[in-house]
Amino acid sequence: MNKLGLYLHVPFCRRKCAYCDFYSGEELSHVPAYEEALCRQLLSLTPRLRDYEVDTVYFGGGTPSLLSPAGIGRIFVALRECACLTPDCEISFEANPDSLTDRVLAAFREAGANRVSLGMQSAHDEELTLLGRLHRAEQTDRAVALSRREGFDNLSLDLMYGLPGQDKASFEASLRHGAELGADHLSFYLLTLSEDVPLYQKSALLPDDESVREMYLFASDYLKGEGFDHYEISNAARHGRISRHNERYWRRSPYLGLGPGAHSFFENERFSQPCDLRRFLSAEDPFLLREDVQILSENDAWEETLMLSLRLAAGVDLSLLSRIGGEERTARVGEKLRSFESLGLCHSTPQGYALTAEGFFVSNTILSELI
Ligand code: SF4
Repeated sequence: MNKLGLYLHVPFCRRKCAYCDFYSGEELSHVPAYEEALCRQLLSLTPRLRDYEVDTVYFGGGTPSLLSPAGIGRIFVALRECACLTPDCEISFEANPDSLTDRVLAAFREAGANRVSLGMQSAHDEELTLLGRLHRAEQTDRAVALSRREGFDNLSLDLMYGLPGQDKASFEASLRHGAELGADHLSFYLLTLSEDVPLYQKSALLPDDESVREMYLFASDYLKGEGFDHYEISNAARHGRISRHNERYWRRSPYLGLGPGAHSFFENERFSQPCDLRRFLSAEDPFLLREDVQILSENDAWEETLMLSLRLAAGVDLSLLSRIGGEERTARVGEKLRSFESLGLCHSTPQGYALTAEGFFVSNTILSELI
């Protein structure tokens, strides 16, 4: 049976963070209608999912911890009705430390969720204030303790680096704290600011490239020393607890996204739902909402495979790449990557090449030379 992932976008936040340009809004009065619409759309998918087994489900946002306990229960009933979930299905949800309650945790847990991802971002209150986050550092500690108490033994923390005014010591302290909290998985994302977010006004205070590079390389080294596997550019996991859902993005495994702004990769097409809550609330079938539909050509598949596999520590499999899109240009990629080896940016693997941590940091430049 074919495997599939489901991504459910929960487009609500108690307050918009100063750097965020994801689709989410503060109209929490719409949460009950959203829960109802999500159940309806999930059920409408039943005939399309007949040939699939769902082995990952991811509640992202926005802030999934703002769903109501009763709504969470109903969404899981709809999930199990519309699709066959594998017995070891990874079911993750994102949560913000300020809005995570024991009732919400218990509702997710009882419904079958087995992984929680907390938006820690920093261990320093000044940085959290600068980012416009609602939580204080100690609330992350409490949210971790609460999650463990509710039985979540697979816990991820999100951190950010490259913040305005941040120095290496400050980021190091946040990272150490995240590891000391016992996270099974850590994500560390470089802050990027689009012109239309409030924090853009502080762009002049962003650390320079060399400081950012040092932060990144420290993260990779430190986490490896702490027993983490730095398995993807921005992600590291202990005890083999990689994010199986996110892994499917990098390995081009199919997934369906529901919710305003959610993306899908399904039956060789990429498409998304409009960033429009009202349209989502009134829709019966998510396939009627599809926009930006892109049918992938052989060339698209080849480029995507190259770009995505270079994000992974496992690297690119040249014979697979060659089968997807031609021997000649794959051989050229192999030669180029070999030339990066002497610069310490990549290393050979039994299947091809993989980027080093230094290579990950400049992966955009490397890719522009390969494609
Ligand atoms: S909580 Fe997350 S999704 Fe919501 S505004 Fe902040 S960064 Fe954006």
